[in-house]
Amino acid sequence: MTLFRPTAEQIAALTHDDRPVCAFLYDLDALVRQVRSLVSALPPGADFFYAVKANNDPRVLRALAPHVGGFEVASAGEVRRVRAALGTSARIIMGGPARTESDVTTLLAHGVERLHLESIQAMRIANAVADATGAVLPVLLRVNLAGPVPGATLTMGGAATQFGIEEAAIPDAITVLRDCRALRFEGFHFHTVSNNRDAAGHAALCAAELALARRWAEEHGFDLKLVNLGGGWGVDYADPDWRFDAAGFARLLAPHLDGRTRVQFECGRIVAAYHGAYVCEIVDLKHAHGRAFALLRGGTHHFRLPSSWAHDHPFTIQPHEAWNHDWPRPEITNAPLTLAGELCTPKDILARDVTVPRARIGDRVVFLMAGAYGWDISHHDFLCHAHPERLFLTDGAIVPERAA
Ligand SMILES: *Cc1c(COP(=O)(O)O)cnc(C)c1O
Repeated sequence: MTLFRPTAEQIAALTHDDRPVCAFLYDLDALVRQVRSLVSALPPGADFFYAVKANNDPRVLRALAPHVGGFEVASAGEVRRVRAALGTSARIIMGGPARTESDVTTLLAHGVERLHLESIQAMRIANAVADATGAVLPVLLRVNLAGPVPGATLTMGGAATQFGIEEAAIPDAITVLRDCRALRFEGFHFHTVSNNRDAAGHAALCAAELALARRWAEEHGFDLKLVNLGGGWGVDYADPDWRFDAAGFARLLAPHLDGRTRVQFECGRIVAAYHGAYVCEIVDLKHAHGRAFALLRGGTHHFRLPSSWAHDHPFTIQPHEAWNHDWPRPEITNAPLTLAGELCTPKDILARDVTVPRARIGDRVVFLMAGAYGWDISHHDFLCHAHPERLFLTDGAIVPERAA
């Protein structure tokens, strides 16, 4: 199984005498099973990179390193993180908007193998910095498609966004790029949607992007070495057992690949989502205006994903029998329950009006699918509550942060 559901024993082991439970548990074995299942589905000529922003913990990077082609980063900090965790051998590619001179200096110093350019200004900066150091930097042009693109939770292209160079402006960008002697133009980058659950639709989108890249290569007379088709392979937070049909996607895409142009993917969410669980103790129960609330030790400052997506995050309740108070234990049964965190804002909600069989103060709420864009996207120090424990497991044992 690639979905990590902590066992009752693993949850019980989080209990401390002096404080309520609040912890992320990450199962690195489940992570490896997941990435292997994705990589093994790919056709020849395709490379699978991991988008570091989904979960940049060094233990995650080290677990993934033997199974992926390399790592996609979007900042100088992520470059340094990958190098600190994995040394100089890991392959790194870099994208992202708002590029600065110091980004390019850092990527050159750390041996990043390719930069994805999102604007003419970024192109000129990269060229100037590379030229000054005598380097020739391989680049892709990131495209923001003209047409609307259906079917995903987040849209980065085919719409008015800050990402990439709009399709109509690509011919001009190619012209400018030809004069950048410190840049080597290798192809195009597309990361158009995130969380696409439609494998056939995603294959059709990628095929259309490949065709567009080939058309530009023909029209402008250059060798199309590489097309990066981004990430965006979906997960379903409403159904943790559902899986993106990676094999079907690969089968539909394979006829569009040729021996001349390599393709790369750089997925984050689908790799890292399933292996993490966030476990919070219920510290209070109350009713207000006809609604039942469970107050958790924890919240969106650790796990912002459900509020950022405005969804009810999947969870289970793990009963905890001990009750050390001399007053009756509050509980609710068979009723809709809203799970709120400990922050002083009504936005600190992780699931709303979800019917549960029973919830008591002291029980543990286990949020599943918390491994990607969880801790990593959250505002940890808002209100200065204690951080959660973050425990990484392999073979049932805890992996320390600094382990080799
Ligand atoms: C975030 C991001 C990814 C990864 O996206 P997922 O939806 O997590 O697979 C890949 N490429 C770029 C440029 C990104 O910004």
